[in-house]
Amino acid sequence: MLAPDEFYLDDPPTHLQQGDICAGVPILLLPPSEELILIRDSRKQRMDQLAAGLVELTRERAVGDAFDGTPEYVAIAAERIWAMLMTPTCDLDGLSVWAVWPLYGVEGAGADVERALQAPSHPTLFRLPHTNDFPASYIDVTDFRSIGKEHFQLKDRIASVTREAQHELTERFLRASGRPWGYGPGETVQPLARYETGKYRCARCNLYGVTVSEISLKPGEQFPVCDNCKKINKSAQWYPVTKHKKS
Ligand SMILES: [Zn+2]
Repeated sequence: MLAPDEFYLDDPPTHLQQGDICAGVPILLLPPSEELILIRDSRKQRMDQLAAGLVELTRERAVGDAFDGTPEYVAIAAERIWAMLMTPTCDLDGLSVWAVWPLYGVEGAGADVERALQAPSHPTLFRLPHTNDFPASYIDVTDFRSIGKEHFQLKDRIASVTREAQHELTERFLRASGRPWGYGPGETVQPLARYETGKYRCARCNLYGVTVSEISLKPGEQFPVCDNCKKINKSAQWYPVTKHKKS
């Protein structure tokens, strides 16, 4: 993990760049219920423009024309919090929608999160170095949100990060979003897909200087632990081996 002086820039540039952190970025939270609450006028008609004034909130299923091909205004919760710009610097000018990672405080996040953040390289959680002015926080690199560029402005910037930090964040994101998939120990073997052979190899073994574990299993059996991965306290990732074929 980079030290604070390796992570944050002392002298941020005069433009926005990837990794910048702004305060007050609106993050939208969808309601827990499946049904949305529509914002309509006082006669329950859809509005072309939402303006301040009297409106009526109505359940989506209480009107007959909800989402019939036209966007609706709906009631959702929002919070304004710190967020980090994820969109690469070179793409900022050409896009009107940018991606950000919401920042969450470590304090009050719960024991599970605190434990996960102790791992030097958690698959998805990334701890940001804290300083005297910057409380301990973290992001989940798979939890990114789209915002309009007008909601992330230079005047709201509270920190910029170094190129090394940008690189580390990008690496972590790529690893989290593109990591190989595999069955874990205890999962049940499913019926074979068209080109599967019933043989499985451990994807995690590929990362290390060991002979990759290979097993044969029948549908209904359970995936075992991987002997190699067990030695380093890691979990197996059994992926199906398919027939050798032209794709
Ligand atoms: Zn393994």
